[in-house]
Amino acid sequence: MIIDDQHYDVIIVGTGAGGGTLARKLAPSGKRILLLERGDAMPLDEQNISDVDIFQKQRYHAPEQWYDEDGEPFTPQAKYTIGGNTKIYGAALQRMREKDFETVAHQDGISPEWCLKYADFEPYYAEAEALYQVHGQSGADPTEPSRSGEYPYPAVAHDPTIQPVVEGIAKQGCHPYPLPMSLSLREDDPTGDAEVFGVNPALDFGNVALKTSVKVTGILTNPTGTVAKAVQAEVNGQPYIFMADIIVLACGAINSAVLLLQSANEKHPTGLANGSDQVGRNLMKLTMSSVVEVTAQPNSGKFPRSVGINDYYWGDGQFNYPMGHIQNMGGVLQDAIFAESPPVLSLITKFMPNFGLKQLATRSIAWWAMTEVLPDPKNRVEVKNGKLYVSYTTNNAEAHDRLVYRWLDVLKAVEKDSSLFSRSGMHPRGEVPLPVMANQCGTCRMGTDPATSVLDIHCRAHELDNLYVVDSSFFPSSSSVGPALTVIANALRVGDHLLERLG
Ligand SMILES: Cc1cc2nc3c(=O)[nH]c(=O)nc-3n(C[C@H](O)[C@H](O)[C@H](O)COP(=O)(O)OP(=O)(O)OC[C@H]3O[C@@H](n4cnc5c(N)ncnc54)[C@H](O)[C@@H]3O)c2cc1C
Repeated sequence: MIIDDQHYDVIIVGTGAGGGTLARKLAPSGKRILLLERGDAMPLDEQNISDVDIFQKQRYHAPEQWYDEDGEPFTPQAKYTIGGNTKIYGAALQRMREKDFETVAHQDGISPEWCLKYADFEPYYAEAEALYQVHGQSGADPTEPSRSGEYPYPAVAHDPTIQPVVEGIAKQGCHPYPLPMSLSLREDDPTGDAEVFGVNPALDFGNVALKTSVKVTGILTNPTGTVAKAVQAEVNGQPYIFMADIIVLACGAINSAVLLLQSANEKHPTGLANGSDQVGRNLMKLTMSSVVEVTAQPNSGKFPRSVGINDYYWGDGQFNYPMGHIQNMGGVLQDAIFAESPPVLSLITKFMPNFGLKQLATRSIAWWAMTEVLPDPKNRVEVKNGKLYVSYTTNNAEAHDRLVYRWLDVLKAVEKDSSLFSRSGMHPRGEVPLPVMANQCGTCRMGTDPATSVLDIHCRAHELDNLYVVDSSFFPSSSSVGPALTVIANALRVGDHLLERLG
């Protein structure tokens, strides 16, 4: 066992949306901050240049196996690297709606109220949008929450492939709006992420250090179990110990829960900070279906995501429950997540056997339909005999199906009016499978009652004085938009609390 000879004010484990952002926020304080990251830097060409090979190679999958509730192994889609999953994300950074923070009745049950409200998050959403250079346009989305100011950068124009489709959608009575996007404005690395906007600028301050290829394996406490004293880690196969006054987990919702469960000790026999038995439970990941349109003419396959539709977010005249959000997928040669929709590929190759992957990539416009899932304690992460198990059954399925059918009706109407699309009438579609953990959240939920939640309003573990979790674990409900902006805003919010605490 090697004991690191430094003592830090703060150790942050994980450098993704939560950890990378928190490091940036704390950096100017001058406090000694150590970032520990199990991955390494991701080469630039892997980040931004996708090709049809992503369909064949499981390129963005973690080099490890997890197990489903039947004990079947699977390889999770996750990236362990500086910047975490933001290195491969779609960079669509959206605020949750005001009502998403309240109790909302869904067709399948209740989406619970948050103990903090939109007004508590609004200043941090604004700070997050400024930090991540979000390009957007207010006033176009009918469900848009109130804002204290305009987006820091104007929305980017739609690609010529998408522009006429957006106009067609508007003609059908929908209100397409420019999707808020984090853009670095760099040609070689166009999307903004937690490395570019969090880790790198934090490291410019001499008081912040980063150690990569450090896999944290546990947290050690004082004998009474009230204070986290150190993190245990593996570095090149060697056990290491790092010590700090404040320890922050930001490993992503699944891995942070795993760390807490793995750190069980005499005072915390079922896992650290798990007196409520809620650690690892209430795992949520947006239900997502991809819907593909086949175009008559080829396109570049490399256009960005740029349009969102929220006309069905809270329901419509025929269905009085929330259905969710629609956004375009970037061109297939650009948008890594498309690789996660094998049902789409198998469908299209079945019906169009001569339609190769390259043609598919350049003759399609694809959409995501995204629906909130409700927290369910049975959807959980567990560690048994050193193996990571994920039990997960989706819910709110009818609302999602209705969203997909509503969207198909809109697309068909647009296509009828346009010569841009093939007359095949086909719309291959598929729901993302279990290994796609892209939007995981909720495994250490925030609340005021230690009996039913893991973290308090500052995302500090109820049971430990100096242990925080600032990744997507804290979400009490998922909403129907991607979680990243809320993770970033929350890290900035917790950062303010830590700055005050550190003095
Ligand atoms: C393909 C894809 C597309 C997406 N698109 C969008 C989008 O357009 N909009 C949106 O809002 N969201 C999107 N998301 C989701 C978004 O990326 C996540 O919500 C966000 O990154 C979560 O932040 P986090 O801090 O919780 O975790 P992460 O960003 O995943 O960071 C976790 C970090 O912890 C590290 N780590 C894990 N375990 C350990 C350990 N034991 N020791 C040390 N380090 C560890 C990881 O390597 C990683 O760096 C997408 C995700 C994917 C995968």
